[in-house]
Amino acid sequence: MKKLLFVYNARAGKSQISSYLSEIINTFTEEGYLVTAYPTQYRMDAFEKIKEMAPLYDLVVVSGGDGTLSEAVKGLMQCDVRVPLGYIPAGSTNDFARSVAIPKNMIEAAKYAVNGQRFPIDVGSFNGEYYCYVAAFGAFTDVSYETPQNIKNIFGHVAYFLQCVKSVGKLEAYSLTIEHDGELVEGDFVLGMISNALSIGGMTQLVSKKDVAFDDGLFEVVLIKMPNSPSEFQGLLGRLITGDLDPRYFVTFKTASMRITSESEIKWTLDGEAGGEYSVVEIGIHKKAIDIVIPPMLNPD
Ligand SMILES: [Mg+2]
Repeated sequence: MKKLLFVYNARAGKSQISSYLSEIINTFTEEGYLVTAYPTQYRMDAFEKIKEMAPLYDLVVVSGGDGTLSEAVKGLMQCDVRVPLGYIPAGSTNDFARSVAIPKNMIEAAKYAVNGQRFPIDVGSFNGEYYCYVAAFGAFTDVSYETPQNIKNIFGHVAYFLQCVKSVGKLEAYSLTIEHDGELVEGDFVLGMISNALSIGGMTQLVSKKDVAFDDGLFEVVLIKMPNSPSEFQGLLGRLITGDLDPRYFVTFKTASMRITSESEIKWTLDGEAGGEYSVVEIGIHKKAIDIVIPPMLNPD
């Protein structure tokens, strides 16, 4: 039999997997896999186990939130053997699952994890660390992960933006020098995102869908300039919602590699987790570094 390593975070998304575990494993078995099921025991456990054990398996499937997926990608990046990765989302935000149209229904997602299409995706590097879909700093990045999940669930993203508006009084400007593709960008910014995803912090309008590819060796960069007034800031939020990234307020470009220098250290988030504080950041991309197994939808032409 083919061998499948199933690594799951039993606590993700209100422990929803407990109702589906038996059916998920049966789904894998019906497809001819002998399944090893491993519930993660602590943060970075998915990373450790996948790094160590993935080469012994034909397929790795993970279940959890974006953090678990990110750990899995990091773990596979450490393996010499290329093992495909399936994903059953169980977290709260699930940016990556949204981006590749993996269904919320866990059984449906399990079927795609074993039956779907293998698709190579790019993996980012951030000062030598791997990341999967977004590196970010600044005002809203904290808000995204500080807004309580129950508020997000009830009020959707309106609540998210209300939190943003509340934070207008404590907007911090980051003076940055950015080098990319032989160009130099200098200025004061309130937020920066270097992403490879259609959904960030649950928001789907931040990048234009038609422009995003997961295998093009490029990241989408969005930097928001420091607004001059609270009213301008509110206008910016409106533009963010509608995806209208006016160059008067935003700097946007695609790149495979960039260097960001700041006078003081900046707190970053990588795939929604704390990513450390740095005054110099080197960001690069490993093209088509990981094979994920997803519903057949990307690049339909
Ligand atoms: Mg890309």
